[in-house]
Amino acid sequence: MPTAIEYFKFLPKTNCGECGHPTCLAFAMQLANQKASLDECPYVDEEAKRTLQESNAPPVKGVTVGAGDGSLRMGEETVLYRHERRFVNPTAYAVAIPDILPEAELRELARSYLDMSFERVGMVFDLDMFAVFNASGDAERLRAAAESLVGMCSKPLMLIGAGAEDLRPAAEAIRESRPLLYAADEDNVSPMAALAAELGLPLALRDGTLDGMAGLVEAARKEGAEDLVLDLGSDSMKHILESNTVARKVSLRRSFKGLGYPLMNLVGSGEEGMMMAMLSTMKYGSLVVFDSLEPQQALPLMTLRQNIYTDPQVPIQVKEDLYPVNGPGEDSPLLFTTNFSLTYFTVRADIEKSRIPVWLQVVDTEGLSVLTAYAANKFGHEHVAAALEASSALERTSGPVVTPGMVAKMSGKLEEALGRKVLVGPMESGSLPKFLKNLGV
Ligand code: SF4
Repeated sequence: MPTAIEYFKFLPKTNCGECGHPTCLAFAMQLANQKASLDECPYVDEEAKRTLQESNAPPVKGVTVGAGDGSLRMGEETVLYRHERRFVNPTAYAVAIPDILPEAELRELARSYLDMSFERVGMVFDLDMFAVFNASGDAERLRAAAESLVGMCSKPLMLIGAGAEDLRPAAEAIRESRPLLYAADEDNVSPMAALAAELGLPLALRDGTLDGMAGLVEAARKEGAEDLVLDLGSDSMKHILESNTVARKVSLRRSFKGLGYPLMNLVGSGEEGMMMAMLSTMKYGSLVVFDSLEPQQALPLMTLRQNIYTDPQVPIQVKEDLYPVNGPGEDSPLLFTTNFSLTYFTVRADIEKSRIPVWLQVVDTEGLSVLTAYAANKFGHEHVAAALEASSALERTSGPVVTPGMVAKMSGKLEEALGRKVLVGPMESGSLPKFLKNLGV
């Protein structure tokens, strides 16, 4: 991001005020704080705009693979550590599908991956991409396999082939789906980059050295290919760690031109592949490609990704609302909790375990857990009463209202505010099944 002084250098310094700010310096300060747009000054020339836009661009270029609902965004990262700001676009996971499979088997394999889906704290994870590779060596078979996959799902594809002529029929046939072409290396960079530029598709470059990769980037850009993804090799854990880290560092510092693109790693399969995938997820990989992936491998990997790509400054939250659990009716108990996802899903799971029908009111506490929210004055009786009123909860049920045991103190005031009997629930959510059974409702 340019500083105020850097912006100021490019402004006319006439202090005319047409931008709505008294001086050019005041306008420059607003620009640096991202509270104004350069277009608001009618006197900035095109070259200055271009220069400023370039230095304003994220150090890791954003690249879109796929189209429509299934498209994936990679890159646009601006920090080395997630606590500095946050990581932007989560690592995507792809599995390889060989084009030598008969169509029915190919579709069955793809279907088994599409069915691999997990839910964790309210978020659904599934596979992001397919990498269809030209194992047959026949460009027409690759085209047929790619078309078959595009016909059965909206997942983005990566097309893997030995060169531009092997990839061309498939790339042309599914061009609208914006596949990623893999890969240009020192032997074929010109025709591969020319194909990518001609069809407007993203292109992966492959070279195990940083200098070699910088040369490939330059050659690809010369041909007009701009949306690049870099494969710096996955020979070992050490290599992934060093290459990915150095590429991210020099891109952020803008100290070495040519590596500011999303990174990818081909990790194979099995336990070693999993370890590499985890390392790539933690260390700046935007795309990880497996030969195969089992559900028991995908779950911990996707959980790791969720943790790394969650903004550490913004807890995962549930929408404030009244949620029915186990099919509640007009006299079911009414429980409430905070909107911190982990709290909500833990409480909900314990109520489900009891099989007792319950209305569960979520109160917006800005993602804080029960005791923290109470201490921060975001989970008092007045907040709970307001949430119950907003959802018309008291009109839905005449059953008892139950406070979490940790905030038993609010029960008296809440009872007054609601004009309804308020009971104190258990201290721990794990005791809810027993508590609800003893309520005898
Ligand atoms: S419109 Fe442009 S020249 Fe005029 S004060 Fe604003 S920044 Fe300066």
